[in-house]
Amino acid sequence: RLYNDLLTAKGNVKVYCRTRPLFEDEGTSIVEYPDDFTIRINTGDDSVTNQKKDFEFDRVYGPHVGQGELFHDVQPFVQSALDGYNVSIFAYGQTHSGKTHTMEGSSQERGLYVRCFEELFDLSNSEITSTSRFDFYATVFELHNEQVRDLLSDMGNTLPRVRMGAPDSFTELVQEKVGNPLDFSRVLKAGMQNRGTDISKFDFSHLIITIHVHYSNRITKESSYSKLSLVDLAGSESLHADASGERVTDLLHVMKSLSALGDVLSSLTSKKDFIPYGNSRLTKILEDSLGGNSKTLLIVNVCPNASNLTETLSALNFSARAR
Ligand code: ADP
Ligand code: MG
Repeated sequence: RLYNDLLTAKGNVKVYCRTRPLFEDEGTSIVEYPDDFTIRINTGDDSVTNQKKDFEFDRVYGPHVGQGELFHDVQPFVQSALDGYNVSIFAYGQTHSGKTHTMEGSSQERGLYVRCFEELFDLSNSEITSTSRFDFYATVFELHNEQVRDLLSDMGNTLPRVRMGAPDSFTELVQEKVGNPLDFSRVLKAGMQNRGTDISKFDFSHLIITIHVHYSNRITKESSYSKLSLVDLAGSESLHADASGERVTDLLHVMKSLSALGDVLSSLTSKKDFIPYGNSRLTKILEDSLGGNSKTLLIVNVCPNASNLTETLSALNFSARAR
């Protein structure tokens, strides 16, 4: 099951781009979608600059594409996780571009977290036989200023733990068994509650939800372990003019880890021999889900309004390196 296309495995990175709708007070949209795979910055406004530039993606989603339609194109990654591959899915973009909407969503517009788990659960039910089984565990942690905060650690010391990251620099996390979608939602909710209520801090930290997949067959003794990591990255905006004190430190750490992620993705895509995982905690912990026999999806979220043009171009340039 595991090694069927190992020989063709290369930096397996796909990049999607999603634009959120314009807010009412944001004027006219500056992004166009000539076809499904290209996003065109087309301001036509000389006071902003007259950028007419194309960026290519594996998929592009306009402002009215719903959560279900996006999930349709994410589903193959979920299947891969069940098939034994380590999978990582990142939401990248400036604050307010739609990362959390994409990953978490709301009760009416459910995002990737719950949709991915439900799909794993459904697919596993259709694959199990009388002698085989799948077991799922969830971990939830936050990375802030290169420090790991396990958001399930208050569940008690007796709970089983799992190691994530390279053997020489692993992180140990509490893992909660999740037997069904209701369990998963409960664990997710607990993790979010432990994240605290200071939402202004969320833009400066990465949130990593991982579903650990264990497969075993008691007759053939076949077994496998793989995982699906869903990452709501910190905001990609560069230093704000008004940032001071603590926030400057936060921002520098965010910029460092995002650029380390960009370096890893571009090294994978250009098939370099050396992949610089060591430059940030984020890439160290996710090392076995980036490159090698694993699959990665980068979802770049962008704002459609002119005043965010600089940040939008910077996000698009980031994604262009990963492709
Ligand atoms: P981020 O996490 O990148 O800071 P959010 O996901 O919080 O951004 O999105 C900012 C606002 O835009 C939220 O109010 C969110 O509900 C809304 N929004 C983002 N993307 C979409 C979308 N695709 N459709 C509808 N509303 C969206
Ligand atoms: Mg957010």
